[in-house]
Amino acid sequence: MSSPTIESIETSKDNTIKLMFKEGFHCVLIPLKNNKTTLCISSQVGCAMGCEFCLTAKMGFIRNLTQGEIVAQFEESFNYLKEYSKQNQIYAHQHITSIVFMGMGEPFNNYTNVISSIKFLNSKYSYPYKKITISTSGILPKMKEYVNTNFPSHLAISFHSAIQEKRDILMPYLKPFPITDLVEVCNEYSRQRKAGMMIEYIMIEHFTDLEEDLNALLQIDFEQNINFNLIPLNGSMKINDITYYASSMKRCEEFKQALRDKGYKCFIRFNMGEDIEAACGMLSEGRE
Ligand code: SF4
Repeated sequence: MSSPTIESIETSKDNTIKLMFKEGFHCVLIPLKNNKTTLCISSQVGCAMGCEFCLTAKMGFIRNLTQGEIVAQFEESFNYLKEYSKQNQIYAHQHITSIVFMGMGEPFNNYTNVISSIKFLNSKYSYPYKKITISTSGILPKMKEYVNTNFPSHLAISFHSAIQEKRDILMPYLKPFPITDLVEVCNEYSRQRKAGMMIEYIMIEHFTDLEEDLNALLQIDFEQNINFNLIPLNGSMKINDITYYASSMKRCEEFKQALRDKGYKCFIRFNMGEDIEAACGMLSEGRE
């Protein structure tokens, strides 16, 4: 099979770079502080999970990426960054300092190829396992398998609501996996390791950011080494004819403080690359 080829490259106002491959998938280079760059990788073309807030969901599931296609996202990004960094101060002297499986697709629905591509990156390029994070929407059986194998890369979960009915609305295909069971696996994983699970929580005004949402989240007994990442909704989301937007920064700060007061690490993730549709939950073939 021939290697995937880049069809086009877009750079956003904040210097986020989206590399689009002819084969229908994308990856995104995100410049961070302190000369760091994160590469956000796709694991599928489209996605079957149907999350309400996600543009990729609208494509439906098309296919799994092969190991070669996953690795190519790293190789092409690395080569592009080498050239681009000569012309652009933001990326000067930068390397890919971390990789996240947070692009198109549910990585645990393509478990074998995701794991084998990480092993390949480690064996061929000595890319450290611990610089890689797999983010799952919460495919419980695969999470358990991952925890049992003690695979060294980090794990994150798109948690998004501690209220079962709300999570079921936001992530309808995850209904078979109740929050209580997910929390158990998150805690099991976190007990095994120094760095605990990363819990991603989407901040949607009047939907996930109410007092009842915060109380439900604080009532869960997560292990103390668990980290929270609050992610303001990108763009908007429509449910039952009501359009929802991101929570205010003030509300995000209140959530952050409440979680920190309970002893957890908590950060607000600022969305990068929104103008080129490279931000979280915005990767798709094209916007409607
Ligand atoms: S948020 Fe992730 S799991 Fe959900 S539909 Fe989008 S790509 Fe799939």
